[in-house]
Amino acid sequence: MENLYLPICTHCYAVRVEPHRRHHSRPTCMDCAETLAKAESKRKASMCQPINKSAPTYISDPSLLKQLNPKRTA
Ligand SMILES: [Zn+2]
Repeated sequence: MENLYLPICTHCYAVRVEPHRRHHSRPTCMDCAETLAKAESKRKASMCQPINKSAPTYISDPSLLKQLNPKRTA
C-alpha cells in the first residue's frame, strides 16, 4: 500500500519512482534517471567549444555558440 504514495516517473510515466527519489522536483525511475543523465552529459559535451584556442569551455548560452560560428544558422 505504501507504494501508492510514490510519485510516477515524470519521464516514462510507466512506473513509480524509488522512495528516495520521491522528493525530487522531477522524480524519475532509476532507468530514466540513467537515461537522462547520459543525455545531459552528451548535451554538455556538445556545448563544449574551444574559445580563442584555449581549452574547451562549457557554454551554457546557445546564442553565444552562434556568435562563435556565424556560418552556422542552426
Ligand atoms: Zn521512468
